Amino acid sequence: MADEQHNLPPGWQRSLATWRFVEWRWPLAGFALALLLLSAAGAVALWAAIVIFAVVAVLLALPKTDAHAESDAPAPDARQLNADVTRFAEALPEPCFLLDGAGVIRFANARSRATFPLKPGDLLTSRLRAPDFVTALQRVIAGEGPARVEFFERVPTERWFVAWFAPLGTPAGQRPDTIVLVIDDLTEQRRAERARADFVANASHELRTPLASLTGFIETLQGPARDDPAARERFLGIMHGQSQRMSRLIDDLLSLNRIEMKAHMRPQDSVDIVSVVQHVLDAFEPLAAELGVTVDAELPDASITIAGDRDELVQVFSNLLENGLKYGRSGKRVLVSLIRPSGARSACLVTVRDFGPGIGAEHLPRLTERFYRVDDDRQNRGTGLGLAIVKHILNRHRARLTIESEPGQGALFSVRFDESSLIPSIAADDRKSA
Ligand code: ADP
Repeated sequence: MADEQHNLPPGWQRSLATWRFVEWRWPLAGFALALLLLSAAGAVALWAAIVIFAVVAVLLALPKTDAHAESDAPAPDARQLNADVTRFAEALPEPCFLLDGAGVIRFANARSRATFPLKPGDLLTSRLRAPDFVTALQRVIAGEGPARVEFFERVPTERWFVAWFAPLGTPAGQRPDTIVLVIDDLTEQRRAERARADFVANASHELRTPLASLTGFIETLQGPARDDPAARERFLGIMHGQSQRMSRLIDDLLSLNRIEMKAHMRPQDSVDIVSVVQHVLDAFEPLAAELGVTVDAELPDASITIAGDRDELVQVFSNLLENGLKYGRSGKRVLVSLIRPSGARSACLVTVRDFGPGIGAEHLPRLTERFYRVDDDRQNRGTGLGLAIVKHILNRHRARLTIESEPGQGALFSVRFDESSLIPSIAADDRKSA
């Protein structure tokens, strides 16, 4: 019992001391009177009487340590709160509360204190007021047995929880003295479910648009345009474009999926980033010529070898350059540069700058979200997945993408590779030659 008392929360130990004073109030009062009489008779000095009384009172307040302590009756509430139960609750990784039969908190483990601003002595529902949660607690208090309830908290941020209430050692149908409450945070799980549902809805929507167009043209070709060779020719051209759009979308979705599957694995191949950028510049020459855009490049002569996946890096710079050409076409010029910043803790910095219409500040934080487009123009070649793919590839390479733009001023996309991306032997060679 003595051990149990030491393990009780401080508030409980205090109440136990108070309780002992109340129990011993009459003997204490008699003892005080006797001391006063002795002092008045001159048998004991007044200061000595006060000291003796104080010592007796303190001894009474101290937790008992003798072997017979268990036979003494502690405060009824404290006796119910078994030390093993509080130790067990403290060890749980989830927030856990021990409540009395009225829903007042008697013990809160460290995890719960970090999650909810509640402490022993507080009424649980003073802070957790979700109607379903309160109803479940009331039913457990009424002796209806254990309960599980999911609830939602709006303040300070949106969070979802599941709570399990269990009466402790009380026969079914009786009102419990102690209730164990364990709360699990479902927020991450709910967010992931919502993101997955949004993704499926977006992907289906993106595929449905060209599919509906294809279906419409097929019906027209089977019906009114059956004998119209000119219309057939035109419609087949549009249908070809739509099917290509669907195939691009599927390619992008698969690409994103592939990259996500290996998101945690840092690529290990040695890749010369200068040759990657040069390869992309060569590949986009025809599109640049078709759109009437001049591409200027500033690349170093020496190679820079980093740990990476060549195909993925080609995809990153292809997406950025293609966007610069497509969306910045009106600026007539795109500048691609690759430098090795001196002093900075980065292996290299690749920038793609266009001089087109630019992007409004409100769009910048959302550009790398899947399916996000500044103008919801599905006639455009884009799938809205390009920058999401870029971001995922760069995360895997421990590289950072930054986007700077102002409407009318063009856009600047910068990719900074961390110093740790440099292949060690190459880095050492480079330092020697520097
Ligand atoms: P998409 O496949 O549609 O091009 P991205 O993810 O590559 O998708 O780009 C998302 C959106 O960002 C584009 O739809 C476009 O509105 C905007 N954007 C991207 N690059 C530029 C740029 N260089 N200038 C202006 N807008 C851009």
